[in-house]
Amino acid sequence: MLRITLGDITKVEVDAIVNAANTSLLGGGGVDGAIHRAAGPELLAECRMLNGCKTGQAKLTKGYRLPAKYVIHTPGPVWNGGKRNEEELLKNCYENCLKLAAEHGCRTVAFPSISTGIYRFPLDRASVIAVGAILEFLALHSDMEVQMVCFDKETFQYYQNALKAVCS
Ligand code: ADP
Repeated sequence: MLRITLGDITKVEVDAIVNAANTSLLGGGGVDGAIHRAAGPELLAECRMLNGCKTGQAKLTKGYRLPAKYVIHTPGPVWNGGKRNEEELLKNCYENCLKLAAEHGCRTVAFPSISTGIYRFPLDRASVIAVGAILEFLALHSDMEVQMVCFDKETFQYYQNALKAVCS
């Protein structure tokens, strides 16, 4: 099951939330900054031990002061016009996060809209890629539930439309 919701991912009570991180995993702006602020300094301390993460890959930490048990950190691709494998890399983010969540026994996972903020990935393309990758994974893992947590109405509308388009 995939649900699109409007809200703040740091408040969501699920087994794992995903962080749209950067490759250093040492915090940044946007959702990354919000997650680190809400989780507390222990999250950064654990992230320092991970030696970064490649774009499209994923690494897991505890959630500390967050309601979520785990945070799965994934650096999305920076949009550069679409000729640098950005679409494949974005798909890899969703797939690798979900694989890692399943390996850790997570049944409920929440994603932010990876790469569509500071990294400027166009929302129309990003939403279709995200919804497609999530539904493909859920087709093989029917015990899991995924939520796309959109921070603004425009983003929410794009993901709703992508879900309708894929399901019709
Ligand atoms: P990126 O660098 O991957 O583009 P950003 O954090 O800049 O990451 O933006 C990704 C998306 O996360 C944007 O749609 C942004 O509005 C959203 N976002 C920012 N803060 C939060 C939050 N607390 N909960 C959910 N989404 C958020």
